[in-house]
Amino acid sequence: MTLPYEEPLTVRGPGPRVVPEPARRGEPGGEPCAICAGAVTSAVWSDDLWTLHPPVGGSLPGTVWLASREHVDTFSEFSPALAADFGRVAARVERAILSLGDVGRVHLYRWGDGGAHFHVWFLPRPLGMLDARGMMLPIWEDVLPNLPDEELRRAAERVAAAMEHVTEGKQDVPA
Ligand SMILES: [Zn+2]
Repeated sequence: MTLPYEEPLTVRGPGPRVVPEPARRGEPGGEPCAICAGAVTSAVWSDDLWTLHPPVGGSLPGTVWLASREHVDTFSEFSPALAADFGRVAARVERAILSLGDVGRVHLYRWGDGGAHFHVWFLPRPLGMLDARGMMLPIWEDVLPNLPDEELRRAAERVAAAMEHVTEGKQDVPA
């Protein structure tokens, strides 16, 4: 894997720690939760537990983010139903993205540093783009030219359509 920058880069240290940390969106003292307020891209797919959304200002078509319907922060706050279903729905999203083709692997990230409403990111690593393996993919995603938001939404809609055709445990797309 390779950084999308010319060498030599120089190492620098982190800034001073900020404790207590500033409140995130959707937690006490923070801005309102954007997901609960509907101030995010409208869902391209949903069921009783989850909603699936396109990104804005991104460079990788097929990128989507999955949120819980319920306002919970992280895995340890999941209801039993959410906990039981997360693996199943994540596998469905992964297979749906792979079914678009030209995807080497689907990365799944959970950061949680911006907002306190559970969501995970699915990023397709373009097939053959070995520079972007591992932790390099989000950096490449940031550096590559952004696509129009409408194009990102259309790709997310193709993922959503494929969600209806991929079934649990069935290898009907390249692994
Ligand atoms: Zn929320």
